[in-house]
Amino acid sequence: MKLVHAPWYMKHVTGLFSKDTGEQKGFRAQYAVFWIFLRDEKDLQDEVLINHELIHHEQTKELTPFLFFPLYLGNYLINLFRFKFNTNEAYKNIVFEKEAYLNQADLLYRKNRKRYAWFKL
Ligand SMILES: [Zn+2]
Repeated sequence: MKLVHAPWYMKHVTGLFSKDTGEQKGFRAQYAVFWIFLRDEKDLQDEVLINHELIHHEQTKELTPFLFFPLYLGNYLINLFRFKFNTNEAYKNIVFEKEAYLNQADLLYRKNRKRYAWFKL
């Protein structure tokens, strides 16, 4: 897993999907199987944020990227309808995000995690 400081990509590509502007535009981090892209250089040291992205790596290892990404996107699209097009609620309620947000502060979580933990959320 390689951490990549990618400010241009994060601001201008993930920024297309974010309502924030200025320095906050774009996602702070994005998991991409072999890499974790980060918008801000200081986040290379943010253990909780990195742990969040590494929880997505565990989910991807059990599903393969070919299932993980379509399920992630499909869950988001269903949630858009469930939460009346509130994009923030739709995102936070993706089962993979629920597991990651719930456990990101526990840096030992990945060691003790049960397989398919996201399934029960
Ligand atoms: Zn996430």
